[in-house]
Amino acid sequence: MKIQIFSIFPEIILDYLRYSVVGSAIENNLLSVRTIDIRDYGIGSHKAVDDSPYGGGSGMVMRCEPIFDAVEDQESKEELQRPLFVLSPRGERFNHRMASILSKSDGFSLICGRYEGMDERIITGLKAREISIGDYVLAGGELGGLVIIESVSRLMEGVLGNSMSLSEESYTDSLLEYPQYTRPSIYREMPVPEVLLNGDHKKIANWRKYMSLKLTLERRPDLLEDRGGLTEEEQKLLKEFRSQD
Ligand code: SAM
Repeated sequence: MKIQIFSIFPEIILDYLRYSVVGSAIENNLLSVRTIDIRDYGIGSHKAVDDSPYGGGSGMVMRCEPIFDAVEDQESKEELQRPLFVLSPRGERFNHRMASILSKSDGFSLICGRYEGMDERIITGLKAREISIGDYVLAGGELGGLVIIESVSRLMEGVLGNSMSLSEESYTDSLLEYPQYTRPSIYREMPVPEVLLNGDHKKIANWRKYMSLKLTLERRPDLLEDRGGLTEEEQKLLKEFRSQD
């Protein structure tokens, strides 16, 4: 997979990409992430990338020319991956479903904003899609870009050693993950649930499924709605465990 990320702070991105899951995906040639420094396409001797907003108001706005030039330069070298996303708090909210779709693609590109955002013509003129990582405002798009890159690359075939760990993870199948425990079996008078210690795989699987359903119902019922509710088998499992509670 090829990802391109346009930013005025490529160092922030490059540094993070050296570590953990993304770092090893890059090292194993499963993923390539190219950073493009928007400042290289800045205007004049000061390499300006921003200007004050038409109509007045506080802050600065990223100018069209450097970003159009950076993107079109990549396009002319046939390096630009589409879809092209602009990180923006106004955008469509990024989620597991989008990460999963992107993980099966050949790649995509991301433009990171800074200051008060960017000239609207960048989004319309470059046929970009605005994408948000949540309902809050960050100082720049770099963190959002990294969030997207990491969540997508974890879902790519061959990136994580054990694909089983993905199939039971939160948001897969619109469920939250069950509680996990490791040694010791009792810590400060807090025991690990008995069922996990008895080696009965069927019972363990049922308990985990029940806990997943219970947590999702309690914390994120909206996920179950999107999924179209519970299967008959899941409803039976819930009833069975609840009668024992
Ligand atoms: N004035 C803009 C607004 O109110 O929508 C916010 C601009 S923000 C300070 C600067 C940049 O950070 C944005 O252009 C965007 O690239 C990035 N950013 C901030 N919050 C974000 C979010 N929740 N999701 C994705 N990108 C975000």
